[in-house]
Amino acid sequence: MTLRIGIDLGGTKIEGIALDVQGNELFRQRVATPQHDYAATVTAIVDLAVLIEKQTGHTGTIGLGIPGAISPATGLVKNANSVWLIGQPLKEDLQDKLRREVRIANDANCFAVSEATDGAAQDAQVMFGVIIGTGTGGGLCIDKKPLIGANAIGGEWGHNPLPWPADDERPGHQCYCGQYGCIETWLSGPGFARDHHQHTGEQYKAQEIVQRAMNGDERAAQSLQRYEHRLARALASIINIVDPDVIVLGGGMSNIQRLYNNVPEIWAQYVFSDRVDTRLVAPVHGDSSGVRGAAWLWPQ
Ligand SMILES: [Zn+2]
Repeated sequence: MTLRIGIDLGGTKIEGIALDVQGNELFRQRVATPQHDYAATVTAIVDLAVLIEKQTGHTGTIGLGIPGAISPATGLVKNANSVWLIGQPLKEDLQDKLRREVRIANDANCFAVSEATDGAAQDAQVMFGVIIGTGTGGGLCIDKKPLIGANAIGGEWGHNPLPWPADDERPGHQCYCGQYGCIETWLSGPGFARDHHQHTGEQYKAQEIVQRAMNGDERAAQSLQRYEHRLARALASIINIVDPDVIVLGGGMSNIQRLYNNVPEIWAQYVFSDRVDTRLVAPVHGDSSGVRGAAWLWPQ
């Protein structure tokens, strides 16, 4: 039997799973990510793959999700917030040590692949997967395949400016990327918390604001309404370009149930269509989508 091994390289942990041919999970293991040490990170990934094959007694294909991308021009890692990976020949080094092809994709693309393959968007021809948590990642899948793009940034919406900004949303906050008013500065969990703080003077985390809104706190409810309006505009600009069948939300903010009703009601006024049939849905595999999608980088 040939396994599909998926490995998700995160900033603090590396998670590995083995899927059988039907996509059933046979084995799962987490290890800590070595900090600021590229060679140790490579070794940890290799050791995890070897452990999975030893524990299951089978060999497998290997897919890896990373917080960044492999530059098509150089073959080196770029755009990684785990900065010790940047500029490194990660694919080459892993293939040398594991003696086989290793497929690598951005972690948001892996999320999208997972939900497109056997998750919330499995019936969709075109889908957009969004991860909204500490940042805002995105990935596009067409016929269950990720759209990588000429610059390996397909689906990366977070550093476009917030569309249809109101006067008090311009120019917006400076983003770590150098621009002002990026979608990420508004829609990430920390961005939501900052917006609430600026309107109320209250220092709460994103989930606390949501909880307070649910409990009838009027100021928290207004913050959540502003958030829904911004998310609706940001997604409407995606719909106007790629017109997906389904948009799947992931990450910490995807646990806010009212988004799935309220955001499509708002986006209707921004989408260039008499009606909008795009569905906004919760992920089926939750936090496991990243690592499952890495495994599904080998669909055959
Ligand atoms: Zn930015």
